[in-house]
Amino acid sequence: MKKLLMKGLLLLSLCSVIILVSQAQQRQIGEAGLQDTLLLKDYRPQSIFKTPQTPVLKAKYPAIDMHMHAPRGGGDLNKAAAELLKSMDECGIGKTILFCGTGKAFDNAAAVFGKYPDRIEVWCGLDFSGSVPTSTIAELERCVKLGARGVGEVTDKGAGLRGATPPMHFDDARMDPVLEKIAELNLPINVHVGDPRWMYEPMDSTNDLLFEALYFRLDNKPDILNLEQVVATLEGALKKHPRTTFVACHFLNQTFDLNRLGAMLDKYPNLYSDVSQRESYVAAIPRFAKQFMEKYSNRLVYGTDQGYSLPMYRNTFHIWETLDEHFYAWDVANTRFALSGVGLSDATLKKLYRDNALRILKK
Ligand SMILES: [Zn+2]
Repeated sequence: MKKLLMKGLLLLSLCSVIILVSQAQQRQIGEAGLQDTLLLKDYRPQSIFKTPQTPVLKAKYPAIDMHMHAPRGGGDLNKAAAELLKSMDECGIGKTILFCGTGKAFDNAAAVFGKYPDRIEVWCGLDFSGSVPTSTIAELERCVKLGARGVGEVTDKGAGLRGATPPMHFDDARMDPVLEKIAELNLPINVHVGDPRWMYEPMDSTNDLLFEALYFRLDNKPDILNLEQVVATLEGALKKHPRTTFVACHFLNQTFDLNRLGAMLDKYPNLYSDVSQRESYVAAIPRFAKQFMEKYSNRLVYGTDQGYSLPMYRNTFHIWETLDEHFYAWDVANTRFALSGVGLSDATLKKLYRDNALRILKK
């Protein structure tokens, strides 16, 4: 009887060992499988840190959004205007600067969005499709008559100003009369120069912003000016046109080297920068970004540039206003960086959201 019991126990423990081994094996196989099958693009981690998370529903000060677009490619503009105004109300955005393009696109957008001049300011682009500068200036003056209060977004990612043939950059002699006319009409101009540094880097496993970089990549366009070169063309224009107020958008695409933007701001009093579309980048370097933004608090303006959704605005407030750490906003911020709040001081926040923009808009 005792022998039988011993045999039974032995068998039982053997079975347990077999079960444990097979479970461990299974876990190993499972992990190895995930390593081999989970694609980075599908990786959507959620923070489990028990740290303060303080979502911000409304901007702390009535904000002026200095960088937003009318819907490109048509659609129901009345519906879009209603959506924009509703989001602005819910998020505490007092005024939006809306880039509306040129020609028919401008006319259509201005006719709808221009109905709310207290809330929405329509700006026009620059038309380079005809003879520059003559027809560019003619179209500018026409748009101003229809209500344009500024110019933007005018883009050169290194291949030349969008729409210009033959290619030319901001410092081209043909641009001189255009930029002087803009000053004469008391209009600010929003310029997009180059793109973030990661877009020029090799598209491989070391690229810190690989997925966004792949989408906007410039490394495969060897004939364009590189970031430093295209920024130099803006410098040429800043030097030649001190009366013209330039707002270089997206931190002048210098979020990888904010001191470079700082040096430009030191040198050119006619230069401002908007922080649109880059809050999720500097959320990776919140302490350094805060130092920079406090130092240059008179020269930076708030902007969004990412559609009219509530989560989009609220992610920007979360980053600028709080010191929360390690959060994600996958619905609006696809950087793959864990985000941390920059936590600007009240004084700087007020200038960023409002006071600096008012100064620019009054000119
Ligand atoms: Zn934009």
